[in-house]
Amino acid sequence: MPANTIASVVCIPMRLPFHHWSRPPLFAGRPRDRLDSALVRVQTADGTVAWGESYCVEPRALQAIFETLVAPLACGRLADDDTLLPGMQRLLHNLGRSGPVVHALAGLDIALWDLRAKRAGLPLHALLGGKRRNRVRAYASLLQYYADERLLAQVTERALAEGYTEIKLHERTGAALAAVRRTAGPQVPIMVDTNCAWLPHEADAAMAAMLPHQPFWIEEPLWPPEDDAALAALRDRCPVPLAVGENAASALALRRMAEQGTVQYVQPSVIKLGLSAALDIARACDGVGTVCAPQVAFFGPGFLASLHLIAAQQAEVSLERLFVALAHVPYAGSVPIERGWLQVPDTPGLGADPEDDLAAGCFAD
Ligand SMILES: [Mg+2]
Repeated sequence: MPANTIASVVCIPMRLPFHHWSRPPLFAGRPRDRLDSALVRVQTADGTVAWGESYCVEPRALQAIFETLVAPLACGRLADDDTLLPGMQRLLHNLGRSGPVVHALAGLDIALWDLRAKRAGLPLHALLGGKRRNRVRAYASLLQYYADERLLAQVTERALAEGYTEIKLHERTGAALAAVRRTAGPQVPIMVDTNCAWLPHEADAAMAAMLPHQPFWIEEPLWPPEDDAALAALRDRCPVPLAVGENAASALALRRMAEQGTVQYVQPSVIKLGLSAALDIARACDGVGTVCAPQVAFFGPGFLASLHLIAAQQAEVSLERLFVALAHVPYAGSVPIERGWLQVPDTPGLGADPEDDLAAGCFAD
């Protein structure tokens, strides 16, 4: 058996307990006290281990997808076979062009990039065209505080004290943005993510309330998120840039939005679409005036893959970092955030492997 034959593909849920100095926010209709994703561990016949990450809200569903669909198709194949993932995408396309099966393949894709870079003895960014910067700024992405101005001010102060110089809110009101603007001052870029808050006819009034407080961009303003025509129309009448992408209907749909300039910022999530697709979208942005600003609301190998992508892409953008206290901070020792900045790793592959307790599934339940 060739050394580069895939011997195993295993999904290890990574459910990180967190708090954000307030009661748990709601996510998918229920209170959220963990930030969930899943590690993807790929091992080849020669014992080389590589890591990816998949979006995961329901670990049992994702593990079943890996056990019954992904691993049987990948094991026994050569890891450097360029037809492997495209072939799996076509074989499984009837199961949906977005959703858990696609998220599983995204994690496998990241692991195969890690493997490729490790086998080449190169940092991942070298395979993405080489880094254009040695360090990347991170922005503090606050979870939702439901317009509680006192909490928003407190948490903003905490983020600024830790060295962050850019803030993102998950809020829906002008008053919430105003509270953070008062705390942060006029110079700090403040992005506002509404998580698809408004129908097209509702958006103008809600956004008008934010405009006096200078949002840097407004993210996912519309429901449904794949309504390109409504987004393009809103972009044309809105004086503030728009950002969308983490809920793209497919990699191709997001690439089209990048090419057509539907919004100013496109935000591929590598743990939903894969690194190959995110790289393709980043390259589609070059020269057309759209900026690729990957969504990075996760902490594992997908975070490192996004860091390499941002380091290598043409447009300089900041990397999203959920501003929460985690029970375990992945890569805290190997790729730490220091005063709001990340050094781009130069060691082979992603630059670090998950710590032993994560790899052993200590945070799987
Ligand atoms: Mg978002």
